[in-house]
Amino acid sequence: MNTLFDNHGRPLNYLRLAVTDRCNLRCFYCMPEEGIHYLPKKELLSFEEIVRVVSLFAGMGISKIRLTGGEPFVRNDLMKLIRAVAGLPGIKEWHITTNGILTAPYIPELKKLGVSSVNLSLDTLDRDRFRAITRRDEFDACYATLQELLDHEIPVKINAVVMEEQNIADILPIALLTKDKNVSVRFIEEMPFNGSGAAHKTWSYKKILEYLTQHFPGLSRLDDPENSTSMNYRIPGHRGSVGIIAAFSRTFCGTCNRIRLTAQGSLKTCLYDDFVLETKELIRSGNNDDELKLDLLRASNNRAANGFEAEAKRKSHTRAHESMSTIGG
Ligand code: SAM
Ligand code: SF4
Repeated sequence: MNTLFDNHGRPLNYLRLAVTDRCNLRCFYCMPEEGIHYLPKKELLSFEEIVRVVSLFAGMGISKIRLTGGEPFVRNDLMKLIRAVAGLPGIKEWHITTNGILTAPYIPELKKLGVSSVNLSLDTLDRDRFRAITRRDEFDACYATLQELLDHEIPVKINAVVMEEQNIADILPIALLTKDKNVSVRFIEEMPFNGSGAAHKTWSYKKILEYLTQHFPGLSRLDDPENSTSMNYRIPGHRGSVGIIAAFSRTFCGTCNRIRLTAQGSLKTCLYDDFVLETKELIRSGNNDDELKLDLLRASNNRAANGFEAEAKRKSHTRAHESMSTIGG
């Protein structure tokens, strides 16, 4: 099996694939309420083009993929793409990150196709706060998806962005979901990427940990899986686990194994970089597989050491305010 290394000796084996820039929610930390310019369909990579890029990467050493967005289930015929990429030689794990609104009807097939895990975004257990955060009244659909995933015994991670003045009251109820449910809850530092450039006061991972420790004094540190972005803990007597993702403090760059492809085919080798390669243009101008592979290899070999260096190197500083719905989280 091939292994792809970056210029800092880090193995790269994980590709995050944003399959659309569209979304059926408007989470305020991710997207502005109005004035979003969605890409026209022809600007998106087609399923054939996505499968081609994933196959090339799989041949170079990528073995894990995650479908994300925007909201992946908003893309028409998503299951058709999933059936194609799930079976690609070299792809050993495939995961999905979803807001859960449209997901439930597809869960039996996801299970049958062997989905490795699903990350469900759920920032609050309170219906009114859900509506305030996402600007849509869809709590019930999201929560029903959580139950359906658990009923199908699909490994579930709950992503909860921690937001000053918004959902601090939800930290404990969400952590308490791990008591009876075998879920891994991850509290995420809010990043200042909301598509409108507005700045936020971030609850740092230290502050989140302090808060959890205060309320769960027996919290014990778990061994983190390899390349984990979360620091993981167990509350005594709970089935599931809680974790913290220092997305803004960027404590995990040293072991970063991931690259990202946006819905329009732009490659990012760091969450914080400018797009480093436009695969759509390369594909549509007739490059063959060897030429494409060489470009993918060059980009992989020119990564910033960490998110701070990547951010400093950006050509366009307006992109620091890009929406996560384009990047895919
Ligand atoms: N729509 C899907 C969802 O919400 O799960 C997938 C795409 S979403 C961009 C992926 C993840 O990024 C979500 O868990 C979301 O909470 C997270 N995210 C979006 N904007 C963020 C921000 N400003 N700070 C931290 N996490 C963010
Ligand atoms: Fe949509 Fe996910 Fe962004 Fe919320 S976080 S607006 S669900 S893409």
